[in-house]
Amino acid sequence: MRERRDYSIGETMTGTTTLDEICSELDDLEGQERLQYLMELGDELPEFPREWQTEANRVLGCMSQVWVVPQVANSKQQTGNGGPPKLEFRGTSDAALVRGLMAFVLAVYNDHTPQEILNYPIEETIERAGLRNLIGMQRSSGLRSMIRRIRELAELAQTAPASIAQKAAVAPPAVQPTVKLQPAAIAQSQPFDRTKLLDTAAIRRDFPILQRKFENGLPLIYLDNGASTQRPTQVLDAMRRVEETCYSNVHRGGHALAAETTQLFEQARTSAQELLHARALQEIIFTSGTTAGINLVAQSYGSNLQAGDEILLTEMEHHSNIIPWQQIAGRTGAVIRWIPVREDFHLDLVAAEKLVSSRTKIVAVTAISNVLGTMNPLRAICDLAHAVGAVVMVDAAQAAPHERLDVQELDCDFLAFSGHKMLGPTGIGILYAKEKQLQAMPPFLGGGSMIHRVTLDGFTPADLPHKFEAGTPPIVQAIGLGAAIQYLQKIGLPRIREHELQLTRLAHELLTPIPGLRIFGPAPEEKGGLVTFALTGVHPDDLSRLLDAKGIAVRAGHHCAMPLHERLGVSHSCRASFYLYNTPEEVERLADELVQIQQKFAR
Ligand code: PMP
Repeated sequence: MRERRDYSIGETMTGTTTLDEICSELDDLEGQERLQYLMELGDELPEFPREWQTEANRVLGCMSQVWVVPQVANSKQQTGNGGPPKLEFRGTSDAALVRGLMAFVLAVYNDHTPQEILNYPIEETIERAGLRNLIGMQRSSGLRSMIRRIRELAELAQTAPASIAQKAAVAPPAVQPTVKLQPAAIAQSQPFDRTKLLDTAAIRRDFPILQRKFENGLPLIYLDNGASTQRPTQVLDAMRRVEETCYSNVHRGGHALAAETTQLFEQARTSAQELLHARALQEIIFTSGTTAGINLVAQSYGSNLQAGDEILLTEMEHHSNIIPWQQIAGRTGAVIRWIPVREDFHLDLVAAEKLVSSRTKIVAVTAISNVLGTMNPLRAICDLAHAVGAVVMVDAAQAAPHERLDVQELDCDFLAFSGHKMLGPTGIGILYAKEKQLQAMPPFLGGGSMIHRVTLDGFTPADLPHKFEAGTPPIVQAIGLGAAIQYLQKIGLPRIREHELQLTRLAHELLTPIPGLRIFGPAPEEKGGLVTFALTGVHPDDLSRLLDAKGIAVRAGHHCAMPLHERLGVSHSCRASFYLYNTPEEVERLADELVQIQQKFAR
């Protein structure tokens, strides 16, 4: 590097080579020799112990596996008295050329203050080193992911030095490579504890489908609960009882059947109110599911948006919490902004704070990511939004079935979930909304039941909640959902959460050591009961088919979260999602099969 701006390249080495030397070598060499040189450069990187090769340290967006850890440079390298601490990074990859790129990146950034790192004109250096043409598009985007990661860490070092010190603490100082320290994810995580599990033997007796065996004699291992859960006899019976004894339309006829069905239907509403600890029954709207609930809010509340207003979403949303907002933004001229997902699979709340302004009108966020499992800090997000007068829509599709939610504690304005993910039937869901919001919103669908009075000139809407329940609702399904909620409440959501946490811990323990297996998501304590992963050399779709051949149902695909997958640098992933009836033996079977698949197919 010949030209130096306000940022000067010091003595820092990648291993032994400075950035100046790298640039000058690349300049002197030609064609294949340059690639060869980069690969050799990678060999000079200081050792990067296996224990550091964790999810927390992984750089997302690279085709190969890449890890980086920050360190605060040791004291003799610090700037003068009181100056900001300099950072030093260690990194590696499982691919030789990428290790070379890492050596280049570390030569640029090591031993500089966060501000110097953030100011550095990296694109010019890439250009000058001739890397753009040398490494091709895919590796270029991997290189940019490494740079993005380092810049994020530098930003973190500026805004939250304590957390960088914490991250740094997991890496031994460069001068003492023999010090053995735990990687962050494992250090935080408690071991699997069998004593905290539910009595699955008793629970499983309630689920006839779980007795199923396939033609090859293998039992069903159902690990696709994030998509849909199974129904216990208590729910199936409740629905059949209505069908066989009192089925009728609700809120209409004056006859006995109508009264009985209406009473059961309204009891289900009360169960949902209790589940969420909503202040009033009027705040509970029956919908056909999470998607319908979010669309209702987007179309009704969103109809007041004006050009230039902003809707804040996160990069980890399900398409159900993206497309309705894109539709209403398209109609009103509102602008969508995105809270980024950090490398540690959490939302970047520092960025969120910067994104929220008086233009923000709606913040829509998932409570638990259906891919990463990340549990988002809902109360903090609500406070942030309310401070600028925005409302918050919570997608609770993956949360309501698995953890206790209290809408009054959260102070969210809207919250939606689906019955079929919590032991209930399909075609039914709940939208919770604060009464004051519902009062002010125009009805979404028009038709029977949602009116107080209709004339040739117009209509006046019915009182809440009926104002938002046009037409005949899914009656039997609502009653089924009521029974499902009661079933869950009887066991207790905190106990269900604990059970799932233990299974997730076990899954992390057993899956993490599998060579080439990457888990996308934070530590078990920070996420819902699921594990999403990819295995090098086996396409996720093939992986799920291979598991299916062994009776294990998992989901492969983009899980209706394409933007998130793009952020992760993969198109598809595999997800095993747990529920109250899953057992540790099932998790062990999953891990055993994955080991076998890895040995047979992964290269
Ligand atoms: N949001 C999330 C986070 C989900 O996981 C799902 C279901 N996969 C949905 C929304 C949509 O739910 P539904 O299809 O029941 O409307």
